[in-house]
Amino acid sequence: MDFYILGDMGSGEIHQYLVSSAIEKHIKENNNENTFICGLGDNIYEKGCKSINDKQFISKFEHPYENISDKIKFYMCIGNHDYGTYCGKGNAQHQINYGRRSEKQDKKWIMPSNYYTYKKKQNDISIEFFVLDTNLDNLTKEESIKQLTEISKLIKKSKANWKIVYGHHTWRSIAGHGNAEDKLEHFLNELYHLSPFDLYMCGHDHNKQLINMKIGTDILPLIVCGTGGKVYDDPIDINFLDEKSDMKFYSNNLGYGYIKATKDKLIVTFLDENNNVEYIHEIKKKSKLNYKKMAKRRYRSKSRSRSKSHTKSHSKKVKARRGKRVKSSKKSMRRSASKSRSRSRSRSRSRSRRR
Ligand SMILES: [Zn+2]
Repeated sequence: MDFYILGDMGSGEIHQYLVSSAIEKHIKENNNENTFICGLGDNIYEKGCKSINDKQFISKFEHPYENISDKIKFYMCIGNHDYGTYCGKGNAQHQINYGRRSEKQDKKWIMPSNYYTYKKKQNDISIEFFVLDTNLDNLTKEESIKQLTEISKLIKKSKANWKIVYGHHTWRSIAGHGNAEDKLEHFLNELYHLSPFDLYMCGHDHNKQLINMKIGTDILPLIVCGTGGKVYDDPIDINFLDEKSDMKFYSNNLGYGYIKATKDKLIVTFLDENNNVEYIHEIKKKSKLNYKKMAKRRYRSKSRSRSKSHTKSHSKKVKARRGKRVKSSKKSMRRSASKSRSRSRSRSRSRSRRR
C-alpha cells in the first residue's frame, strides 16, 4: 500500500501547481490508482473560506489538482489558516461542510469533521489514520478533552498493522514554528501515553523534516512536510530540538512525501517538485510484545508522569532554545540546510509571517 503526504498547499500559486503536477506524474508513473493523499492542513490561504460556495475552493484546490483523478481522495485536516482566527470556530466549518458535500458527490476533498479516523486495507496490510484538529486554541477545553478521549480510545481499539496520527501543527521542528506550544505538547504526550502509535505527521513549517523523538523508552518518528504550495527561506535552528530528538533529514525545497507500507516497515521518500528523490528513510515496526508492555507500563504510571512531563518538557524546551547541543551532526545539518536554501533562493518565493 502506498500514499502521499502534502501540506500547506492552498496558495493557488505556481508553487502549488508545480507540486501538484509532480504528484500527478508520480501517480501515473507508478500506476497508483488505489493511492490516496494525506492533507496536512493550511488548505486555503490566508484565512480559509467564508462559505461552502467560496470560489477559493476552486482556485486553491479543485483547479490545482484537476489532473488528479477524483478516485484519489485527499483526507484533509484543518490548519491554522483554515480557521482564519486564533480562537473560536472561525471558517473551519465551511471546509468541513465542503468535505461532506464533496464526499457525497464522490469527489476528492474528504473531511467529515474537525477530527476523524479512516482505515485503508490492501493486500493484507492495514493502516488506520487518526486525523487531529491540532488548533487547540480554537477549541474549548471540553472539546479538546473530548477529542483526546475519543481518539485515544480508537487508537487503542484499532487492530490495524499501522497506526498513524496526523494534524497540522509541529510537535518538534527546527524551523520557524519550532516545537509544539505547551497545550499541544501536553495533548500529544498524553495521547501517546494513553495509546501508542507508530508515526506523527504534520505540516505548518514549510519544509520537510524527519525527526526521531525519544518518548518514554520509545523512539517515535515525526514527519514535517509543509512544502505543497509556498516557499520560504526561514533560518533554521537545530538547537530548537531537545537532546531526546534526533534530526535525520531536513530540506527547504518544495515537494511532497511518498510512503510505501509493508507489514514490517514504512518506507518514507521525500521528493522535490521535479520528482528528484531527496531522502529515503525506513520506519521499522515495533514488536507487538513490546508495544503492549509499553502501553501497560505507561498506563499504570500515567497520573504520575502527567504532572511531571508537562513542566519537564517545558523546561527542556527553554533549555534547548538557549543553545543546548543535540546528538545529531550539526555540520551535516548545516550543509544540507544551506544547500537547500541556496536552491530555494533561485526561485521566486512568497513569504508570510503566519504561514
Ligand atoms: Zn500553519
